[in-house]
Amino acid sequence: MLPPVQKRVKQEVADARRLLENDLIVKAEHVEHHQLPEEGLSSDAVMAQLDALDSIKAVAWKEGKISGAVYHGGDDLINLQTESYHKFAVANQLHPNAFPGVRQMEAEVVSMVLGLFNAPSTGCGTTSSGGTESLLLACLAAREKAYAEKGITKPEIVAPKSIHAAVFKAAKYFNMTLRLADLDPKTFTADISHVKRLVTSNTAIILGSAPNFPYGTIDNIPELSKIAVKHNIPLHVDCCLGSFVIAFYEKAMGKKLPFGFDFRVPGVTSISCDTHKYGFAPKGSSIIMYRSPEYRKYQYYITSEWVGGLYGSPTLAGSRPGALTVGAWTTMIFLGQEGYVKNIRSILETSQILRHAIENEIPELDLIGDPLLSVVAFKSDVIDVHVLGDLLTKRHGWHLSSLQQPAALHLAVTKLTGQAILQLVEDLKKCVEECVAAVADNRQAIKSDTAQLYGVAGSLSTRGVVDQLVGVFLDVLYENDKTMQ
Ligand SMILES: *Cc1c(COP(=O)(O)O)cnc(C)c1O
Repeated sequence: MLPPVQKRVKQEVADARRLLENDLIVKAEHVEHHQLPEEGLSSDAVMAQLDALDSIKAVAWKEGKISGAVYHGGDDLINLQTESYHKFAVANQLHPNAFPGVRQMEAEVVSMVLGLFNAPSTGCGTTSSGGTESLLLACLAAREKAYAEKGITKPEIVAPKSIHAAVFKAAKYFNMTLRLADLDPKTFTADISHVKRLVTSNTAIILGSAPNFPYGTIDNIPELSKIAVKHNIPLHVDCCLGSFVIAFYEKAMGKKLPFGFDFRVPGVTSISCDTHKYGFAPKGSSIIMYRSPEYRKYQYYITSEWVGGLYGSPTLAGSRPGALTVGAWTTMIFLGQEGYVKNIRSILETSQILRHAIENEIPELDLIGDPLLSVVAFKSDVIDVHVLGDLLTKRHGWHLSSLQQPAALHLAVTKLTGQAILQLVEDLKKCVEECVAAVADNRQAIKSDTAQLYGVAGSLSTRGVVDQLVGVFLDVLYENDKTMQ
């Protein structure tokens, strides 16, 4: 970059930082601890401060106006989860002999989820801290297996473009090359022939999603399975988001999905499922499953050389919060199959209301693919959907997710969204009208930070600037004083 451009970029990054600070740094009154207090506070005083922190005005998630984010299972469940946490607050899974009950619950949670995904009797898995860790582990295990069994030293991941960012992270952390396959422009699922072309003798793992995060569409897992079987490559299915929605689809809707996605498909060797999404477990809970211990063993970390003793750990973390596993276990046995079917049915009915409104009532918006599950995405050839997203926030308090390439928005329906879905359809119609009017009379263009940001991100010459801005966003999360910079 030339010096005058550098200067302008620096100025713009500083401006963006100010905007982000104003947006993100909202503090509770009379609560401020930059340093550890000299003396501890009384429990009443701590509770009063927690109340103040809890009452800061925020996005209206309780009204169901945010996409995804809070996978709330109802007040009774939250009370029970809180009590279960209390009982096992100090439990550490690193010490199974101190907490045998937690060991039992962890094994049972894994076993129950294996059952939901129709694992064979050799099926096995572990719990993890979330979908990202589950995907990291799947890629790590595949890399280790590829090295041990095929001598692959330059491992590659083949996945459709719509695969979750956690797989990009895995490629970076574990020094693997990510080969992204295009999406079929009609279905917005993996272009199978492109996947075939990307597979090489260095491919350590193929991934597909059921469904993916951006569009909620399901990759053709049986076709991916054929490729995986032919080349003897592990196939991971990311059901982090699909979670219990896809597992209970058939029971909730009384019909089958168009094709298989779980261990009944022969080439599927691992599946990740987030219990902290549609399993309604407390955040910090996901399951990574394998077809057999012959796959799982490669995710373990084992060393017999440490002076601290013989050491083995099944996942990325060392000490692990047993109470979260207890929360997942409690949730699952409280809801049972019946409870999940009921909840999942209402989530699916809600997402289909939005789907039908976009297909039939809002001609300016185009539904993306065939969203059968909880996520519904749409784009537009007529208006800028990022402007639409900002307008929905400004006028009506909605927070949908912004997607790029192509510009699109999505809603991940949760249990909380049900109460608000008809309102969303109405608000969408009004905001689309406003956008159309602004396009017709371009003097009246609507200002939109999101549209501007994605405009910058979409240009090759300025993409680096957006990376800087995302870094600034992360910096701001750890700022504790507006005047400190
Ligand atoms: C949410 C999600 C993940 C990652 O989950 P985290 O729990 O946020 O780490 C992975 N894949 C898909 C498809 C997801 O939607």
